[in-house]
Amino acid sequence: MTDFLPAAKSIDLDLLTQLHDRHQTCRSGTVASYIPELAKMNPDAFSICVATLDGNVMGVGDQSQLFTLQSISKVFTYGMALEDRGREVLLSKVGVEPTGDPFNSIIRLDENSKRPDNPMVNAGAIATTNLIQGKTATDRLNRILTTFKNYAGRDLYVDSSVFTSERTTGHRNRALAHLMRHFEMVDDRLDETLDLYFQQCALLVDCRDLALMAATLANNGINPRTGDRAIESEYVRDLLSVMYTCGMYNFAGEWAYRVGLPAKSGVSGGIIAIVPGKLGIAVFSPPLDARGNSVRGLKVCEDLSTAAKLHLFDRS
Ligand code: GLN
Repeated sequence: MTDFLPAAKSIDLDLLTQLHDRHQTCRSGTVASYIPELAKMNPDAFSICVATLDGNVMGVGDQSQLFTLQSISKVFTYGMALEDRGREVLLSKVGVEPTGDPFNSIIRLDENSKRPDNPMVNAGAIATTNLIQGKTATDRLNRILTTFKNYAGRDLYVDSSVFTSERTTGHRNRALAHLMRHFEMVDDRLDETLDLYFQQCALLVDCRDLALMAATLANNGINPRTGDRAIESEYVRDLLSVMYTCGMYNFAGEWAYRVGLPAKSGVSGGIIAIVPGKLGIAVFSPPLDARGNSVRGLKVCEDLSTAAKLHLFDRS
């Protein structure tokens, strides 16, 4: 696949344009429709953005097309829960083991601890959101909005149609939450937590926001454009570790092998990948493969990693 793309010394607009041209014609994959509102997304929308640690964002395609974060939000709420509760409490409630199962799988709760496997699959993400502190639902939502604002460098808003659409059809997530309630892995604020989870998933971003959110993680928690801290630096490594091992669901192993970067995908077609200390990468293209990862997004990231030698273990 990558054979005829020349090795690039650095990532520039030319390289991004080549990648965009190369994969725009790809017609595989299907737009997610289990959340009815997502089915309205344009399958041809396609953008690639890269943010550097001096705060510059370069990009190609529909860079200001808004879409919802979906599972990409799980990374950032995991960071909030870590800050609120610390590593030990988090580990007692949510594991850090890759599942090899689809993102929405009906969980195996760890036999002894009853924990969901990791915070990047739905069960673990719901348990994680449950741990976010705040007196009322509004306090908790406002804290989420402030944190996500710090990552993106601007205010983000919930898409109410997507939120309502998932809230009224998300029976599977509701079932996961109730199962975890049975095992006392989430508290009584079950409906409130599910609403918060659906709201974090329905936050609207464009591809440029996403690249800056990724670059904030690459920059050890400080937004490279605004200088605002989004997460304590001591927890950045926790986020990057679970992204590396669990971020791409049941493709996480192959992704680590082929692309070699911590990453996270979402069912609206976004993918972020982080080159620690260097770059934040974001791709948006709604058609998904059977595992729920953006088809064009995977191809672009693999090509980019190969062309610019971004694989973390590539020392050739
Ligand atoms: N909100 C979606 C869900 O819970 C997120 C899933 C995803 O992006 N993989 O099903």
